[in-house]
Amino acid sequence: MPEGHHLHRLAAALDEAFAGTTPEVSSPQGRFTGGAALLDGHPVVEAFAAGKHLFVEFAGAAYLHVHLGLIGQFDITPLVAPDTVPPAVGAVRVRLRNEGYVADLRGATLCETATAGDVEQVLGRLGPDPLRPGVDPAPAWARIAKSPRTIADLLMDQSVLAGVGNVYRSETLFRHRVDPFRPGREIRRATFDAIWRDLLLLMPIGVRLGQIVTMADQVEDVLGEGVDTSLVPPLGGTVSAWRRGVVGGAVERRYYVYKRQGEPCLVCGSRIRTAVVAGRNLFWCGRCQRRR
Ligand SMILES: [Zn+2]
Repeated sequence: MPEGHHLHRLAAALDEAFAGTTPEVSSPQGRFTGGAALLDGHPVVEAFAAGKHLFVEFAGAAYLHVHLGLIGQFDITPLVAPDTVPPAVGAVRVRLRNEGYVADLRGATLCETATAGDVEQVLGRLGPDPLRPGVDPAPAWARIAKSPRTIADLLMDQSVLAGVGNVYRSETLFRHRVDPFRPGREIRRATFDAIWRDLLLLMPIGVRLGQIVTMADQVEDVLGEGVDTSLVPPLGGTVSAWRRGVVGGAVERRYYVYKRQGEPCLVCGSRIRTAVVAGRNLFWCGRCQRRR
């Protein structure tokens, strides 16, 4: 499941490719023909993400609202020349095309047109998104502080915190040595603040690199001068490649606990554990993250 950093990066790439232009909108697969007809011929105002939701605003028409779900992909390809449009491969639900780019959406859980009111409703259901500028974490803390649910469960609830997924959940809880099964109402304010600050630090790195980075040494490298942290997403053919993991591997993929079940904890040496929490595999160290 793409986490929030992926959607924000995708929104930035779509915005760069299409904002201010009037793309042709079509549905090669045929399942979005009505929606495509509504958006076609209208200029794109902007593309933006909120949590794991993606929106593209078309002036005078509506918004395109997308949720990629587990396997959805929105691939942006630059055109070598305006008339060299690649054929739609596979089940392309929606295609945006202007003189410079073609963007194909496949496999998304949700693809619909939305009014401004619909967008407000979606935004209203989401908890604070660490990647939205100036966002206030207070509503997330209010939910967590009175909840009997575990912190691992709460962190995956998009109405509590928007955009946080399985990797950030496991890694952030480890970074702060928080027992993932501690109920929200037993989490101290200082612990929540530390988790929130961590998300404010780590998620923008994910947007810039197209990759989740959580290891302290790698975070330091990225924030130093070792890695290009340009906020501009890689167009020029690299978005699709990056989506497949070909590009953007500027940093070695390694984590403290994520997908390291059975391996020794890098801090204490005991085995990393895993269990399904909120529908996804949680990873944690039973010794470092013991309830105190
Ligand atoms: Zn440990």
